[in-house]
Parts: sequence; C-alpha cells; structure tokens
Amino acid sequence: MDALARAEALAAYAADTAGCVRCPLSETRTQVVFGSGNPDADLMLVGEAPGFHEDQGGLPFAGQAGELLGRLLAGIGLERDEVYLANVLKCRPPQNRDPLEGEIAACEPHLFRQVGLVRPRVVATLGNFATKLLSGRSFGITRVHGQEQEVTLGATSVLLYPLYHPAAALYTPSMLRALEDDFSRLPGLLGREPSAPVAFRSPVESSPEPVEDDPRAADTLQLGLF
Ligand code: URA
Repeated sequence: MDALARAEALAAYAADTAGCVRCPLSETRTQVVFGSGNPDADLMLVGEAPGFHEDQGGLPFAGQAGELLGRLLAGIGLERDEVYLANVLKCRPPQNRDPLEGEIAACEPHLFRQVGLVRPRVVATLGNFATKLLSGRSFGITRVHGQEQEVTLGATSVLLYPLYHPAAALYTPSMLRALEDDFSRLPGLLGREPSAPVAFRSPVESSPEPVEDDPRAADTLQLGLF
C-alpha cells in the first residue's frame, strides 16, 4: 500500500473507531481520541490514555504534558504534525485512573492497526503502560528508558524506544533531564541530522537526585535487561 492509500485507510479506521464499544470506557468517555499527526510519520509516540482535555477536544496530548512534548519535539527540530501521536487507550478512564488490563486488551487492536498503517521507523513509548504493552515485557520504564530495540508489531518491524512519560517529567527534574537526553538521540535513530540544541527545559527547580515517585515511572520489576 502506498502512503496515500495508508493515510486513507487510517482515516477510515479512525471513523470506524469513533463508535467503539469494545470496553466499558465507551459509556463514560465524551469521545474516542484516536490519534493525530502525520499518517506517514517516521516517528510515532505512544502515551497512556486521554485525560480531561483530550476527552473534551478529541486530540491526544492536549494538556501540560502535551506542551512539554511539543517543546521536546521542537528541541530536535520536529513539529507535532510531523510525527504521529497515539495512546494505549483511546478513551479516558474515569478520574484519569490507570488503564485496566481488560481495557488495554480491548484497545490493543486499534494501536496495532495504527502502527501497521503509519509504518513508523521508530515507536517511542511514553511511560510504563505503552512500554510494557509494545515490548511484551514487564520491565519498567526506569530500567529500560533510552534503550532501543528492534521489535515486530503485528507485521511491522520498528525500533521501539522507551521514554519517560512527559507527565511524570513535569514534576521530577531528574526525569526531565533523562527525557531530554533520551530525546536527543532520536534524530540519530531516525537517520536525521541532529538539530542545533534548543533550550526547552520547563521552569521546574532543579532537584538533587531522582525521586521516581510518579506511578507512570514506577518500576515493579527491575530484573535483567529489556
Ligand atoms: N495525554 C495523552 O493523550 N496521553 C497521555 O498519556 C497523557 C496525556
């Protein structure tokens, strides 16, 4: 399938998914937040789930975490609309609670279809939920962030690149630094020229050492290598 046909298939799939009732989140969501960006992107970023702003507006990464993501992308010379943004869950969990196993399993076919149609070179997973789902492993993000690995998702071979979730990095300066460092390797992984460094640190005070107390960063398993 050429890029135009894949873009059309993705748009048709998004339209189908708008009425998804595969899990009970369909009863509490305002709307399905399918994904956004370039349907032929080399880089796809996969977050956790829509929050309040995404549920209202219909687009992923619409809040503060999205602003930080935009700054991180700008720092490596990429606009938001040059990449493709998606989430593990397409519907907001009530009160932004963690995704449940059954919800992840119900929603997984949507994400795999997106990967198969966009065919990105690199899939950057943001936080534990996306990383564990797409790596098929239970190693947490603190252990595996910044470690790329070739994986096959459905029928698509991609470079999986786990990153801290920007929502966690917003409140933990050490995590933000690690996220910035990991982001700086993305141009190389994408086969692009590195861009001139841009100052994009968010206005958080610098803190002494890692305080990885955000649930999105917490590791339950610290064994072996990713
Ligand atoms: N917004 C999203 O779309 N996904 C997240 O994981 C967090 C915020």
